[in-house]
Amino acid sequence: MSRIAYVNGRYLPHREASVHIDDRGYQFADGVYEVIAIEHGRLVDERLHLRRLGRSLAELEIAEPMPEASLKTIMREVIRRNRVRDGIIYIQMTRGVAPRDHAFPRYARTQVVMTARRSKLANPKILAEGAPVITLPDLRWARCDIKSIALLPNILGKQQAREAGAYEAWQVDSDGNVTEGTSTNAWIVTAAGEVVTRAATHAILNGVTRLGVIRVIEQAGLKFVERPFSVAEAKRAREAFLTSTTAYVTPVVRIDDSVVGNGKPGPLARELGAFYRRYVEAGGQDA
Ligand code: PLP
Repeated sequence: MSRIAYVNGRYLPHREASVHIDDRGYQFADGVYEVIAIEHGRLVDERLHLRRLGRSLAELEIAEPMPEASLKTIMREVIRRNRVRDGIIYIQMTRGVAPRDHAFPRYARTQVVMTARRSKLANPKILAEGAPVITLPDLRWARCDIKSIALLPNILGKQQAREAGAYEAWQVDSDGNVTEGTSTNAWIVTAAGEVVTRAATHAILNGVTRLGVIRVIEQAGLKFVERPFSVAEAKRAREAFLTSTTAYVTPVVRIDDSVVGNGKPGPLARELGAFYRRYVEAGGQDA
């Protein structure tokens, strides 16, 4: 089956879909994106993703390209044309096409690209065995809360993780505290049973899965604390895990050369993973 991409009002065979070489996304990474999971044909926490997309656009003063209802219609059409029941949809919006100049162009029309593909979310082998992570300095800018397509430090970090045989790289700020992974949020469980993740400041992306897991933690009556934690604390933690749209709740079993807990996925991380799946099946926060 051939894949179909949406590009600025047209549905095109994926292979033929392209953007202008003066697209500011291509020239300057002047754009934002979202990745939304599709489970049983349903978008997971669509409202939270679209709210974050709107916020990212507003923070960068990129114009909303269309009303939300039109965007939702196109998203559903892209999913339908690609016959995706379980997988992801990728939405990218850039400031527009204009002769290369750093300052915003006087006239620009927000460019919109969407693709969808079938994929298995949350790799079962990694869920069962747990993920090793490495740590490295956070080289990113001071507005990591914006879901920008400028991802160079993230891809360099992920590549370093791959080369080290790890699943993810946890980025560390100048105080020695973990900010987040290159494409995931970072969590620990303390000896006192508190579930800890960093507060959603400008230092991290406020993950939609993070928000879902916080909801699940509160519903389960577990102790939740938003605060920074150091690499040393994470290595000593009872459990660790990471969250994202595509990783769901993935236990972390090694940080650099230190084994977390007994080196197996922690019971609380597994339980939260199961609770989160139920939350998704029940329609998440769109329910
Ligand atoms: N942090 C970063 C840097 C990310 O890129 C992502 C997702 O791409 C996340 C966290 C997790 O966010 P979400 O749960 O919305 O997928």
